[in-house]
Amino acid sequence: MVNKIKAIIFDVGGVFALGKLIIANNKQRNSVHLDIAKKLKISLDQWFDAIDTTYAKTIEGKISRAKALKIISKNVKVSTKKLEKIVLKAYRKNFKQNKRLYKFAFKLKKRGYKIAILSDQWYLSKEALIIPKLYEKFNEVVVSCDVGMRKPNPKIYRLILQKLKVPAKQALFIDNQEWNLKPAEKLGMKIILFKNNKQLFKQLEKLGVK
Ligand SMILES: [Mg+2]
Repeated sequence: MVNKIKAIIFDVGGVFALGKLIIANNKQRNSVHLDIAKKLKISLDQWFDAIDTTYAKTIEGKISRAKALKIISKNVKVSTKKLEKIVLKAYRKNFKQNKRLYKFAFKLKKRGYKIAILSDQWYLSKEALIIPKLYEKFNEVVVSCDVGMRKPNPKIYRLILQKLKVPAKQALFIDNQEWNLKPAEKLGMKIILFKNNKQLFKQLEKLGVK
């Protein structure tokens, strides 16, 4: 079958790395930011003001790690070393690795599927969440801050397909955000909106992935 799924591409945040969600300022947010603000002894608003556009730029790799740390640490009035330590620790503490899903992904690889990562991260969240020991087992890993673009830019989806050497029709993309699935679907990829492991396993079975 020409359109049989050969590659499975996973998101990380909300899929492999499960964050604790809280409501802050009427928005659903990961508790990581609240934790960082607390450690810095500032309000959540002050933290978001401090990271502001720098944060968005770092996700797209438009600004270097060193420069981003310098700007943010100056805004929150701590040393870059201290900021780095607080942020990395907060990401590690506020995200739980989805061990069952890793196990399942590695099983799929053994069965002949290519497995890959397509994730939006800034430098520090990448360092805390994309653990080399786990991610070196994937056939390809594309992280936004390394490649200078992010989802939902169609180019980043094309990049991962190119790296995997599979046509869109033979790829499945799994993400926990609907807006990130749209470009994948447009390119012809199969998609699954991730809610939890049980729901994902059920949908994969429906697509004949096992
Ligand atoms: Mg996500």
